[in-house]
Amino acid sequence: MRKRVLSGMQPSGLLHLGNWLGALENFKALQADYDCFFFVADWHALSTNYEHTDKIKDYSRELLVDWLAAGIDPQRSTVFIQSHVPEHAILHLLLSMIIPIPWLERNPTYKEKQEQLAERDLSTYGFLGYPVLQAADILLYKPEFVPVGKDQLPHLELTREIARRFNSLYRPVFPEPKDKLTEFPRVLGTDGRKMSKSYGNTINLSDAEPVVRRKLKTMVTDPARVRRHDPGNPEVCPVFDFHKIFSTRETIAQVDRDCRTAAIGCIDCKTLVADRMVERLTPIWEGRAALTATPGRVEEIVRDGARRAAAVARQTLEDVKGAMKI
Ligand code: SF4
Repeated sequence: MRKRVLSGMQPSGLLHLGNWLGALENFKALQADYDCFFFVADWHALSTNYEHTDKIKDYSRELLVDWLAAGIDPQRSTVFIQSHVPEHAILHLLLSMIIPIPWLERNPTYKEKQEQLAERDLSTYGFLGYPVLQAADILLYKPEFVPVGKDQLPHLELTREIARRFNSLYRPVFPEPKDKLTEFPRVLGTDGRKMSKSYGNTINLSDAEPVVRRKLKTMVTDPARVRRHDPGNPEVCPVFDFHKIFSTRETIAQVDRDCRTAAIGCIDCKTLVADRMVERLTPIWEGRAALTATPGRVEEIVRDGARRAAAVARQTLEDVKGAMKI
């Protein structure tokens, strides 16, 4: 039996290079050694977007297409949509009966997100309780590991606290999931800030080649390099960060040298990295095209995924109900 790993992603927009190089490449690698459950967390998207739900279905589908095109293998991994497995909602309800409200109010992202998204009214029951839904998502599958970045460690700790509280109130049902700390590479957007949908500076996996090239062409560089013959500093240039990700060691060394002596211009430098990026993205574009050309394929995969996920989730829920004597 391979150890189980579970991870989800919210369908809150189109996947970009940051998501791909961070989460998705990690998902792909995990498949070799673990029994993976990957789900689209569409109910979580409601917690901050309950007023604008018109895109959630489309984004969920796009997310799945990107996952599959980027190498998530539905034969090896269980790929599903959260709302297709209603056991998530049932466990969320049952857990919500035992969670003290102060646990949720002290969740660091609760206040932080309310401040970040000040234009939205997030004083809702669903937003406060989203860590309980998250705990239900995880605990239903009793995974050995949950891949997380450092900033998500407090969330996983809350899931463990919820598991402990349930186990001590009734009887041990939930093993405590361990974190699988994941390093995410720094991926900057076209404006030099962290790549993020909310900054509008992304290069998306669904962008066609000309769009990728155009976005790179207009990308900011070392601001001190005003004229072609001005020497530059690659360390302060986000294009050079892309070289570090996509180019060969020789090219990186050459760009590093040539930028500092102005032997290369920014346009040529960007073309070099665009070529490498296009090379890496081409298999994903081909995968996306193949999925789009086969109507019903994505739906078939998630139907099968939901069936496999529900088989596990139902069993856990039976244990939970047994322990709670309901
Ligand atoms: S030559 Fe390349 S690394 Fe140097 S400033 Fe221009 S784009 Fe950036």
